[in-house]
Amino acid sequence: MKKKIFTAFLIFIFCGFGCFDAIFAQTSSPAQEIRQLRREIAKHNYNYYVLDAPEVSDAEYDRLYNRLLDLEQKYPQFADKSSPTAKIGAKSGILGKIKHRNKMYSLKKVYSEADLRKWYAEIAKLPVQISCEPKLDGLAVSLVYKNGKFYKGATRGDGLRGEDVTKNLKMIKSVPKTLPEPLDIEIRGEVVVSVENFENFSEDFSTPRNYAAGSLRQKNPEVTKERNLDFIAYQALENRSKTQQQAMLRLKSLGFITVEQVLADNFEEMKKYVDFWQNERKNHPYPTDGAVFKVNDFDLQKSLGYAASYPNWAVAFKYSAPMQRTILKNVEFTMGKNGTLTPVAIFDPVELNGTTCKKATLHNISQIKKMNLQINDKIVVEKTGEILPQIVSCEKTEFSKKINIPERCPFCGAKLSVENKNLKCENADCPEKIVQNLVHFASKNAMGISGLGEGSARALVYGLDVKNISDIYKFKPQDFEKLDGFDEKSAQKLYFAIQNSKNRDFEHFLYALNIPYAGKKASAILAKKFKNIDDLKNADLQELSKIPGLNKRQVKSVCDYFKNGKNSAEFAKFKAFGLDY
Ligand code: NAD
Repeated sequence: MKKKIFTAFLIFIFCGFGCFDAIFAQTSSPAQEIRQLRREIAKHNYNYYVLDAPEVSDAEYDRLYNRLLDLEQKYPQFADKSSPTAKIGAKSGILGKIKHRNKMYSLKKVYSEADLRKWYAEIAKLPVQISCEPKLDGLAVSLVYKNGKFYKGATRGDGLRGEDVTKNLKMIKSVPKTLPEPLDIEIRGEVVVSVENFENFSEDFSTPRNYAAGSLRQKNPEVTKERNLDFIAYQALENRSKTQQQAMLRLKSLGFITVEQVLADNFEEMKKYVDFWQNERKNHPYPTDGAVFKVNDFDLQKSLGYAASYPNWAVAFKYSAPMQRTILKNVEFTMGKNGTLTPVAIFDPVELNGTTCKKATLHNISQIKKMNLQINDKIVVEKTGEILPQIVSCEKTEFSKKINIPERCPFCGAKLSVENKNLKCENADCPEKIVQNLVHFASKNAMGISGLGEGSARALVYGLDVKNISDIYKFKPQDFEKLDGFDEKSAQKLYFAIQNSKNRDFEHFLYALNIPYAGKKASAILAKKFKNIDDLKNADLQELSKIPGLNKRQVKSVCDYFKNGKNSAEFAKFKAFGLDY
């Protein structure tokens, strides 16, 4: 008997992790396809909700999920309460559990105007007021306050129980620790990372949602503290407000950051919001993956009630990303300004969102391994609003062959190291690293040297043997004129742009230096606190640690940067060229 159970267990494990996928794909009756999809989705849920390490893009996940929904609706005889479509999220992992006082639901999703109209028609015979809100892309948490003090907080988990992240939430500045009133109240909202902060870590996390989830679900709250997360509230569980609009105003008065809201009086206005938000969300300080529509009136919400996993009074509109099929031709490794080599997929060109695309980011080498991606695979590429195209899935062909992962830097030949799943060139003199640093130094938010983009930077580094950034200030127009792609006029222009940059203020200069982890915000804080480089250089770890707005990782990085003798020599050279900061 024991042996039988063990064999069944092994089969379950095998099936759960997709080894029979190929068999099912070949003999696909509806029942078999449903079973295969349920297993596949369960596996992706585990990777996404428990490990914070998804193996497929959200668009690919949604495709599988919606296919399962369709099949389950068409063949109700195969209904099963344990299907992922009947559940919320996944039971989650490493931290202690907290039982929610009130179930935490997900949201029903629609992908087209027609389906949004259908939802609206189902909830209201006459026009009703709808609260239109950004759909923030982070993870849902519930905060419980007792007598006006933050008491405990949990992730959504499976909707009934979430992970206890109380200590970690205490590290988030935008989670009020004390309310202005002695309330017993539950507040819900999204833990997110700002787009600006994510840019500093995008080499380590594939999406801002993974960053937020991975940073909150930590055993060590100090890690959460360093990751600079935010909490944005969208729901207050109390009887004081009559509408979602009033509830948001109330949350603001209690000290919370809340989602911005626009009220729509009819479906036409909701449609306008869908179009408006599609463009506007690219400028939003926090990542979003759609729009949320909620019945504004709480009495009406109550009468509409809930389905198994979502409220009937709300719906999420997800902007569908355009996708195309193509063939993977090559994988190139591009250098980042801090020496990280990012794999970039090169494919037969396709049209996505009106532009021709032939490259997609692969984030890091572990993605290649996870997807088992090979040259000449058939691939599906997708372009979401603000990010480069991504590879959603791949399929082998008879010509598929292994991707060579370099052991040495393709630009300088130095042996590569692996840091946080990333290949890294540690050679400070690597010419391609200098090119990328120069591009950053010259960029609009740094020294603002127009005409010094990647092409010119490469010409300077390889043609004029630039070894340090400060070298660019020693050249005369005649030097630039000798370079490929330059004539007398463009050489003069570049010369004057470089010389003019000496008037940039300290804050921009600090940002231009590319101190690891010290982005625009940290540079602004440091420039405000210190008058010049010497003041900053003399500040020790203790002094820097006391500056509000800087985390431990940034403080250490700034200290290390100024301790490095090579950087001191570079400052002396900058000074000699008239950049006296
Ligand atoms: P969801 O995260 O897409 O939507 C529901 C959530 O939206 C809520 O729980 C809440 O946290 C959030 N939200 C954001 N703004 C809100 C607002 N203004 N008001 C109310 N809620 C707001 O749905 P889900 O069911 O939690 O997860 C399913 C989605 O997660 C999928 O569609 C997919 O995008 C992603 N997913 C991806 C994978 C993968 O492997 N890539 C796996 C599982 C899930």
